Amino acid sequence: MPRFLLHSEVIADYRGIIASPGAVLLDGDTIVAVGAPEEIGHLEDVPITQINGMTTPSFVNAHSHLDLSGVGTVPCKDSFANWLIEIVRPIRQERDSISKYVQKGVALSLAGGCRIVGDIAGSQLAAQTARDSELLPVSFVELIGFGKGVESAISTLHAIPDQFEASPHAPYTCSQEVFAACFDSGKKVATHVAESLPELEFIAHHRGELYDYLVKLDAWDEQMRPWECHPVDAILQIANGKPFLAAHLNYIEDRHLELIGQSNMSVVYCPRASAYFGHANHRWKEMIDAGITVALGTDSLLCLDTPERLSVLDEMRLLYARDAANPNELMKMATVYGTKALGLDCSLVTLSTGKTAGLLSFEGIASLDSLLSSETAPKWILQP
Ligand SMILES: [Zn+2]
Repeated sequence: MPRFLLHSEVIADYRGIIASPGAVLLDGDTIVAVGAPEEIGHLEDVPITQINGMTTPSFVNAHSHLDLSGVGTVPCKDSFANWLIEIVRPIRQERDSISKYVQKGVALSLAGGCRIVGDIAGSQLAAQTARDSELLPVSFVELIGFGKGVESAISTLHAIPDQFEASPHAPYTCSQEVFAACFDSGKKVATHVAESLPELEFIAHHRGELYDYLVKLDAWDEQMRPWECHPVDAILQIANGKPFLAAHLNYIEDRHLELIGQSNMSVVYCPRASAYFGHANHRWKEMIDAGITVALGTDSLLCLDTPERLSVLDEMRLLYARDAANPNELMKMATVYGTKALGLDCSLVTLSTGKTAGLLSFEGIASLDSLLSSETAPKWILQP
């Protein structure tokens, strides 16, 4: 790819607006210089691309399930357990369609300006399909294992190829042994924690909706040991200081803010997925104030309101409108906090020299406020 110079009315990244007008000099997928157009000047034989609007780096979707993109968006069910049984389970059983569904998820992610995706893959095939795509995915192969299923989950973990990471699904579907094996495996770990009140009830007492769910699936096993504590405490104890991503955290206690802040847990907040299931008052702002890395995720397409794309841009727009969120903070959550949580080089999603995960343009947009209050879709200027 040759060198080219980008002139844009505005250039912005996690630091906010960097220059207006701004310029970026690129050599293939590498940013060579960034600044005001007069700082970079005109270079002989280097073509100029003019952007009438804003230029930003790629966004990072830190939690998604690309293989659940096949059936589009669906209405919520009366309970989380019924949603798992009636919506998710049948999709996961359509083994012949997995690659096609992941490819749809890839296309929707690119349509949303997210080239970096933390993908929870229901199978190695799903992980491989994402890896073979134009995305830069961090693929976590999902594991479920409790009671008699522990041994087989640990065997599956040990058979995951080096290029893929591990996702023990949640503390209500994986035992302490499975979580411990994942943390000891040397792989990056992503899980779902404190997503729902039934999860808290099940973890503490082995009863409630999720207990009924396991019984209904004939998956209940008397050998399962209850955790007898809050899921956040359970997982932090097993992680024992190792870094990992925890999606959701819809239900935490005051004391968890400090505990998580002192740990290496990164939180992935999925605002639209939380709203879809009726979880309110997420404490994401307090988490950031407590020094916790809070990235943004979409979760699966099933629970979104944008069938045309899978993007944390829409999570930012929700938080901007609903929670009066600071635009710069949102840009951090949608870019560098995501790469940090996923253990990637943050400069992939900044307008600084070095390799870039891609650049986006937003036509007619001149400020972060207008980016977040408009419905303007991103277009790729550079998608390496
Ligand atoms: Zn999820």
